[in-house]
Amino acid sequence: MDLARVFPAGFPPRIRGVAPYHRCLLCARANNTLVCTRCRLRSRMGTSLRSTSPPQTGLAGLYFLAPYHTNQAEGSNPLRDTLLRFKYGGDRWSGRRLGKLFADAARPLHGSVDAVTSVPLHPRRLRRRGFNQACWLARPLASSLGVPWRPRLLRKLTDPPPQARCRSRLQRARSDAAFSASAILSVPSRVLLVDDVCTTGITLAACAAALRSRADCKVFAAVLLLVQSPGTAMRAL
Ligand SMILES: [Zn+2]
Repeated sequence: MDLARVFPAGFPPRIRGVAPYHRCLLCARANNTLVCTRCRLRSRMGTSLRSTSPPQTGLAGLYFLAPYHTNQAEGSNPLRDTLLRFKYGGDRWSGRRLGKLFADAARPLHGSVDAVTSVPLHPRRLRRRGFNQACWLARPLASSLGVPWRPRLLRKLTDPPPQARCRSRLQRARSDAAFSASAILSVPSRVLLVDDVCTTGITLAACAAALRSRADCKVFAAVLLLVQSPGTAMRAL
């Protein structure tokens, strides 16, 4: 086979003379590491997940890659911008890059969980959006940790109507946090629950409660971005 005819731009394809694997995952500038130093600093992101005290009872641990809010003087947060482009703009390429970044950062958790699941969307919202962003983060993470990915352990029971979205963040989170655990699938003893953003912790706590109502298990949670309350303690893994 003549590869030059099948891939005239070379394989892997090159963009403006720079191979894709030599670009920053977030800003696409030429770079030799996964994320450039500038994007790491602006996103306040480390090379591995950090842990913090779970804001609600029911979680055995809460891990995150970066804070949702960064110092305004530093300008936009490239990690948050990439997530929003994926979640609301449907940019699947950004979704794949975020999955890889998240999976690489979660490697220190190897051996400490038995399975990975994700916060589910209501079927109606899943049809509207076309994908569940948490699944795109959870699947590569499970593969990186060498444990099963169990996307059907949880089911979302509610899909609030649009007018409910006008209420406060806390009211909205409470009315939206109704989940049940699968009655037919067994729940492993240490589950890592994945979501894209943790805002109030109510959603993660409701998922953990649903899982623990089915089995005596420990539920850890990992999110890409954490909305920190003042005085939140952070530790490197
Ligand atoms: Zn960058």
